Parts: sequence; structure tokens; C-alpha cells
Amino acid sequence: MEKYIEIIGNAYYGYFHYLVNEIMYPSWKNYFWWLLGLSLTVWLLELVFPWRKKQPIFRKDFWLDGFYMFFNFFLFSLIAYNAISNVAVEAFNDFLALFGITNLVAIEVNSWPKWGQLLLLFVLADFIQWNVHRLLHRVPALWEYHKVHHSVEQMGFAAHLRFHWMETILYKSAQYVPLAMIGFGLEDFFLVHIFTTAIGHLNHANLRITYGPLKYVLNNPIMHIWHHAKKLPEGSYGVNYGLTLSIWDYLFGTAYIPHEGRDEPLGFDGVEDFPKGFWQQVTYPFIRQKPSQKPNDPPKKKGNVSSSDLMEETVH
Ligand SMILES: [Zn+2]
Ligand SMILES: [Zn+2]
Repeated sequence: MEKYIEIIGNAYYGYFHYLVNEIMYPSWKNYFWWLLGLSLTVWLLELVFPWRKKQPIFRKDFWLDGFYMFFNFFLFSLIAYNAISNVAVEAFNDFLALFGITNLVAIEVNSWPKWGQLLLLFVLADFIQWNVHRLLHRVPALWEYHKVHHSVEQMGFAAHLRFHWMETILYKSAQYVPLAMIGFGLEDFFLVHIFTTAIGHLNHANLRITYGPLKYVLNNPIMHIWHHAKKLPEGSYGVNYGLTLSIWDYLFGTAYIPHEGRDEPLGFDGVEDFPKGFWQQVTYPFIRQKPSQKPNDPPKKKGNVSSSDLMEETVH
């Protein structure tokens, strides 16, 4: 246990230095400048070729989403990513050691050409994420976290990274363990991560792009706007769950684009009452009133999470 805490501690400490370095020394292998560059490029495209022409340049929640972007991408994703992946690899090796196995790679991909490795990594990771995303909609306790992303009412590139930090934990743990088993290292994710960030930004952008026939492979703004639509098809939990690839939705029958949906109302039932600020939104799943709570129970105070609340959440 101590070893794991030390790994997490080192991950955070190492990350701080890494972050300072990233900002100070721009380079092609640098997440910070890539994110900034991609964001400015997609924003510029939105300004020059807007799909919804009346949408303000600084649309609703522009700055909130900008904050989410940097919080999730830097302050949380990469940190949790480092910590989780280091712990996962260590725990996995320890588990194998119990059976006297010291080194095991389920599939030997190192002998493949680099592009083949990256393609496999990308497709597998995307399929795992598609499944996690479906669960976020299907499991009521998980939907409470995912509501943050669906509380977007005006779409723009930065809405891409507006989500609850719990999603990072869910996505990364579901993704990393099987991929580490195949023998992928962290460096392999860089290119894939940049590409998926670009497509994710575009999916949420105020742009009318479908990539032509490639729309059956790549997710796009016209497809993803229906994922955010307030009104779902009767009896459905959600549609168009794809992150970067749209192919899974076409294969498994969850693709839904009834018409262009440019001005479709976005959100979910009761989105008007959803908290508006960052702190309220990320604490909301922990302190929301349970449906079973009787009307005359004392109301729970905001920002006052008891440990039993947290227990209840994690037990679900
Ligand atoms: Zn969703
Ligand atoms: Zn989205």
C-alpha cells in the first residue's frame, strides 16, 4: 500500500515539474501548446464559418467551459492519468507475480510497424470509451456525473472538455488496464490523444462539417449535436455515443440523425435547475437530494458532504 501511495505522490510531484516545463518550453511534443493551438484554430473556424450564425462569439458558458478545459486536461486528466496508470501497471505486475509470472504481454505488438500499433491502440481505446459512455447514460448513479457534460445549452469547441472529473477516473481506468496488458506505454498515447482532442473539439464546434462519406467512420458536429439534444427518441437512454469514431453507433444501431438539428434545444429535462458554477457542478453528484428523501427531511447544505454520502455514492 505504501508503495502505491509513493507512486501517486511521485506522479503528482513529477507532474508539477512537467507542467511548468510544458508551459515554458513550447515544442511539438507538448500537450499544453497543442491544446492551445487546437482551441484557437477551431474557435477561429467557428468565428469565420459559424453554423448557428446568431450564436454569440462568447457563447453561454464560454469561460466556464474554458476553465473546465484546462482543469480536466491538465490539472486533473494528466495527473490522474499518470497516477492511475503507474498504479495500475504496478498492481497488475504484482498480481501476476502472485502466480510467479514476472513479465507478460498478452499480445506482442512491439514487432508491428508503428502506424499499426497506433491504429490498434486508437481503435481499441475508442471502443472501450464508447462502452463507458453508454454506461454513463444507462446507470443512474453514473448519469449524475455525466449530466455536467450534458448541461451545455449552446455548443462550442470548449464544451468538449466540460465534464466531471469522475469521468476521467472511469474512462482512464477502463481504458488503461487492457491497453497496458497489450503492451502499450504512455508515450504511445500522445499522437492518439492529440488526434482525438482535435476531433472532440470539432464535434462540439459551431461548424457544419460531416467529412463526407467519412461520416460513417468519424464522429462530427452534426452527429454529436443529437447526442446533446434535449429530446431523445422514445424509450432510449441516449444516441450517438461515439467519441472519435462514429462507426460503433452505426454497427450497434445507436446512430440517430433525424435531420440537421442546427437549432435543436440541448440539455436534459430540468437542465434549467442544474447548478451553474464549476464548484457547484462538480460537487452536485455528491450532495444532490436523493429521490427517496422525504420532503420534510432537513435539506442538505451545499458544500457539506458527509462521509456517509460519499460512501453511498461509491457503493452504487
Ligand atoms: Zn453523453
Ligand atoms: Zn459532447
